[in-house]
Amino acid sequence: MNVATAPRIAVFGSVNMDLVAYVATAPGSGQTVTGTEFRQVPGGKGANQAIAAARAGGDVSFLGAVGDDAFGTQLRSTLVESGIEVSGLRTEAGASGVAHIVVESDGANSIIVIPGANGRVTDVGDDDVRLIRGSAALLLQLELPLPAVTAAARAAREVGVPTVLTPAPVQELPDELLDAVDLLVANQHEAAAIAGQSDPSRALAPLLERVPEAVVTLGADGAVHGRRGEDPVRVPARPVTAIDTIAAGDTFCGALAVARAEGRSAEAALRFASEAAALSVQRYGASLSMPERAEIERVRTTG
Ligand code: AMP
Repeated sequence: MNVATAPRIAVFGSVNMDLVAYVATAPGSGQTVTGTEFRQVPGGKGANQAIAAARAGGDVSFLGAVGDDAFGTQLRSTLVESGIEVSGLRTEAGASGVAHIVVESDGANSIIVIPGANGRVTDVGDDDVRLIRGSAALLLQLELPLPAVTAAARAAREVGVPTVLTPAPVQELPDELLDAVDLLVANQHEAAAIAGQSDPSRALAPLLERVPEAVVTLGADGAVHGRRGEDPVRVPARPVTAIDTIAAGDTFCGALAVARAEGRSAEAALRFASEAAALSVQRYGASLSMPERAEIERVRTTG
């Protein structure tokens, strides 16, 4: 797409260095085991969504914080190399956010997130609001402290910028935040938890009592979109062989935000996001697996 027409998307969220250890079986308390491989990859839901949106054709600004350590320098470079504008990425004294991930040979994983600089983002400043103003959407997740996410959503509402919230990691959501959310994009577990429903297929209606519009992603079963007063729209996932679904939801959300900002219908935006996510699950890694816009378009016209 023509860069001049790329929709501006702001992302206020987390950025972490993922330190991934691969091992047959994770050690128990007091045990030491030898692993098979180690990878260091940029992550954090905020950064993942920012990269997904940039690849899908958005003109993306990232707002958040890294530490003044070597990881901070690397994380900043990764965002810049992805074509993301980082004037809203602060450098805080101390460590960057880190996710310590252990992946066992059967694919099971356990993760310790140490928020570092992400945890020191407690509010939005005038500079943040300046970057949010004029964007077609503000993407939010819950890996920054809740008061900061709430302040960002409310600031966006005040300057007329639509907000998109991914409620992960799932937690109790105050009305103060949800009142300023225009679109909630939740996976089936998050949707069920927020809706107070054990059955995800029944989660959409209660969600729409709290936000005007919601999308529930259903893994290999696709995604469903609901807007108050309208019939839900369901889009199936492309049948593909999934080898790694890490960050499928972030890929979906970043692409969805771009498609909506371009003025596509709910159904067309869902299809675009689903194609992007279906491409990502066929490759390994989080940001590494996210498709470029041309690929998404190619599948949509030929697939
Ligand atoms: P999830 O977070 O698991 O709900 O996945 C987010 C989105 O990624 C889904 O709505 C699908 O569009 C896509 N996706 C996830 N898993 C698969 C899969 N096995 N095959 C195709 N698409 C998938």
